[in-house]
Amino acid sequence: MDAVETTTPTRKNLIGLSRAALGEEIAALGEKPFRAKQLWHWIYHRGETDFAAMTTLAKSFREKLTEHFVLDRPDVARHQVSEDRTQKWLLRTEGGHLIESVHIPEEDRGALCISSQVGCTLTCTFCHTGTQRLVRNLEPGEIVGQFMLARDALGEWPTPTDGGRMLSNIVMMGMGEPLYNFENVKTALKIVMDEEGIALSRRRITLSTSGVVPMIQRCGDELKVDLAVSLHAVTDEIRNRLVPLNKKHPIEELLAACRAYPGASNARRITFEYVMLKDVNDSDADARALVALLQGIPAKVNLIPFNAWPGAPYECSSNNRIHAFARIVNDGGLSAPVRRPRGRDIFAACGQLKSDTVKKRKSELLKEQAAGAAA
Ligand code: SAH
Ligand code: SF4
Repeated sequence: MDAVETTTPTRKNLIGLSRAALGEEIAALGEKPFRAKQLWHWIYHRGETDFAAMTTLAKSFREKLTEHFVLDRPDVARHQVSEDRTQKWLLRTEGGHLIESVHIPEEDRGALCISSQVGCTLTCTFCHTGTQRLVRNLEPGEIVGQFMLARDALGEWPTPTDGGRMLSNIVMMGMGEPLYNFENVKTALKIVMDEEGIALSRRRITLSTSGVVPMIQRCGDELKVDLAVSLHAVTDEIRNRLVPLNKKHPIEELLAACRAYPGASNARRITFEYVMLKDVNDSDADARALVALLQGIPAKVNLIPFNAWPGAPYECSSNNRIHAFARIVNDGGLSAPVRRPRGRDIFAACGQLKSDTVKKRKSELLKEQAAGAAA
């Protein structure tokens, strides 16, 4: 084995270390604290990946950094661009697990949908991620890494100050339940919000939870980001079926936590996500009950057409039904846009963050078997 291969694995990735942790690494190299600040700027404002190019740092310091550290992005197993310019990255994490992030562009901005876990321990019956058995929390570096990779691809380093960025927002709506991996999500989002680096405003970050009630207050106090809640039903009976976590934290308890969410106001409403499932939760009566339930909460509703996956036990409501439902919610005084499906041709939609991967693995397996049989 040559020298490069034996030294590379010992170098630590600095992406995902909090400012304090980065400071400790720099101090351990015998450097002054202000060097950590300069380095932070190179990593998170400039997006530089090569220590040698960090020209404001002394050459000897750059050499030490190169010797000990790397600034690695996650490994891309597959990158796809949809007809509507939605991009999806399938990423291979350490240990070989696959996660995904999706960039959804709008005219003059765009959101990155970020994963917080490999799979999900919760088992919402309409969600494909919930059928994945294997689960592990993503490390802060793997969470920030998704953002950095997308920004590399969009060519938006150094952090633009004029506002016109295509990667302007983050939604924590990919694989996993972010409030079950709160510490790592917090470290990652604090890095993204740090004013001397990426400097994304907390108002441009939305965290979606299926209703981990005991963590909602901390999310508001410590991260102050916008909250989205996967409500999906207006009675405990139906919600227990769709979101089994409801048995532990029923609707009333969940809505009480929303009422108390720090920072929620009419200007910063809580989004209630509602997946439209044919004959399950989509009647006029459900729509009226939803309006009644959300009384007194600074709320908006996001209606999500169900994305069917192979073997899913539900169907999506018809367009007419979705729009009739939306009208009732609107008439009740709540904004209720219907989420537009994006990236359909590359399976980039929520709840499909696994199907394509599984299919591909299967076809690879078949190919391997065929090759084996031929040999
Ligand atoms: N675990 C968190 C965040 C990830 S899921 C949560 O549940 O909120 C992001 C959103 O996609 C949630 O509102 C979830 O209910 C929704 N979703 C999951 N599977 C879906 C599917 N097949 N069709 C439409 N929406 C889905
Ligand atoms: Fe997990 Fe969210 Fe899917 Fe439920 S909807 S299984 S909480 S990722």
